[in-house]
Amino acid sequence: MRAALITQPRTLELQEVPAPTPGPGQVRVRVGATGVCGTDVHLFDGHFHARLPLIPGHEIAGVIDQVGAGVRELEEGQLVALDPVIACGQCWACRRGQRQHCLRFEALGVTQAGGFAQYVLAPAANAYPVRHLSVAEAAFAEPLGCVAWGILRLRPEPGSNALLFGAGPIGLLLMQALLISGVTEVTVVDPVAERLALAKSLGASHTVQTGPSMAQALRDLEPHGFDIVAEATGIPSVVEDMPRYAAVGGKLLIFGVAPEEATVRISPYDIFQRDLSLIGSFSLNATIPLALNWLESGRIRVEPLISHRMPLEELHKALEYKEHPGMGNALKVLITPEG
Ligand SMILES: [Zn+2]
Ligand SMILES: [Zn+2]
Repeated sequence: MRAALITQPRTLELQEVPAPTPGPGQVRVRVGATGVCGTDVHLFDGHFHARLPLIPGHEIAGVIDQVGAGVRELEEGQLVALDPVIACGQCWACRRGQRQHCLRFEALGVTQAGGFAQYVLAPAANAYPVRHLSVAEAAFAEPLGCVAWGILRLRPEPGSNALLFGAGPIGLLLMQALLISGVTEVTVVDPVAERLALAKSLGASHTVQTGPSMAQALRDLEPHGFDIVAEATGIPSVVEDMPRYAAVGGKLLIFGVAPEEATVRISPYDIFQRDLSLIGSFSLNATIPLALNWLESGRIRVEPLISHRMPLEELHKALEYKEHPGMGNALKVLITPEG
């Protein structure tokens, strides 16, 4: 089969490799679409302790074409979305219901062969049958599963208002999820005008472009601050500024992936005195079913977020787009190995 491999940091090669055969309890999926994500760029750079060579790609949807021994509930021909997180189920973290922190953490496209290939193997338990969705929509189950975990972490109060920094693909998913999880109004901030227009069309009540007049514009909108301030940028300076936009009792959600070594200055007194909550959210935790409910009900729209569908041969270009937000007007890029 054809597969894209990171052979060493910053080197991507398209190779012909043997197609895998499913072992007991595994299924083989003919990949229909795999989303390109910031994590793929980190792996390409050799971060996340990547064991190379690696076939990346963890936002995977496709059709089961072989089932291994002992697989129940699934059959050949079924369209499935894959949960990439492979947890041992036995360690301290798994026993506490924190699969994404499994002490023997493995993940498709991160530590094991992923979806930038014609075929991928997955444990049957990680394959979720999909109804009424295209394979492209189903590829959003994983990023939306991360958003779902963020919402469960955040627990928005009914009727609250939110400020969201970042209108990339993840930001636009998070915005829509907030709006069907009790939040009444979301104000979205981003430097790219086209992304703000899209945010508006997907339900943002207000949009503000990053720039010198941003802080004043946000104060004019909510003089007492926002109940929720979330970011999907991974930019440390954005995180540093979040408390100043929060109302008393406000919740701050750090959703973007900042550089590992980055630090920010935040006033502990401010957090204390204004009853603020600072919340992180990592990966996804058995939240694919929730994400699929959102997708299958049509309450979250993902088609407008797809800017490109590319063959495996163009993965390098997709990674370049990801490294330079706004380049090629890219939002979500899907790799479609079958063309
Ligand atoms: Zn991802
Ligand atoms: Zn575990």
